[in-house]
Amino acid sequence: IVRFENVTKKFDDFAAVKTVTLDIFEREFFALLGPSGCGKSTLLRMLAGFERPTEGRTIVAGQDITDLPPYERPVNMMFQSYALFPHMTVEGNIGFGLRQEGMAKDKIAARVDEAMAMLELRPFAKRKPNQLSGGQQQRVALARAIAKKPRIVLLDEPLGALDKKLRQQAQFELMRIQETTGTTFIIVTHDQEEAMTVASRIAVMDKGELVQVATPGDIYENPKTRYIAGFIGDVN
Ligand code: ATP
Ligand code: MG
Repeated sequence: IVRFENVTKKFDDFAAVKTVTLDIFEREFFALLGPSGCGKSTLLRMLAGFERPTEGRTIVAGQDITDLPPYERPVNMMFQSYALFPHMTVEGNIGFGLRQEGMAKDKIAARVDEAMAMLELRPFAKRKPNQLSGGQQQRVALARAIAKKPRIVLLDEPLGALDKKLRQQAQFELMRIQETTGTTFIIVTHDQEEAMTVASRIAVMDKGELVQVATPGDIYENPKTRYIAGFIGDVN
């Protein structure tokens, strides 16, 4: 459903992403994995429309979207920092994108309720973000990302702020939501264990380049380079 075609992103002379060609399939749970600074967020932001490739094209469902503005793309992004609106309630935050779209009020209410039910947020509907725990805020951010029912959900380090126990719980929650909604999920993470747990396929990046794209099992058993072997080896 997603195709990056020879995509390069330069900031001045520095290439943050180097001629990446990658296909991501419909309904896949796909992970971009690699160390800090390797270009994961930049690649994701080009799909969301927040950055424009210096060279190459991004294609979604056969349509070249390289020059489409973010709001016209069939993708929705959840940010690492959640970026919740502090003055809005949980309901207000989740419905934000739908109001922007001009959806009818009763339809918005139904969608928001559906997303809250899926993430067990109904009891918190009237609270503001600062009245929620970190894990609850994370669920609101995810609910907001899925409420629009985009074809593709982008998650940039969605669980980075959670402690280990909550993180594991949230990983299973992500997998459940991905499956029940039948949406394509693309997650960015520097945590190999997390990628191995949630993803059906993983792209390993290093210094702006794709080093290997494979299933977790394949990457574990046949790492293509010593670099990947070392990186994945940290799991044990
Ligand atoms: P992390 O795991 O730390 O979030 P990342 O893999 O997401 O890292 P990116 O944010 O994609 O990394 O950044 C890749 C490289 O591009 C880094 O060296 C970063 O400093 C650089 N970079 C990113 N955005 C910009 C920008 N707007 N201007 C200049 N350089 C940038
Ligand atoms: Mg990043």
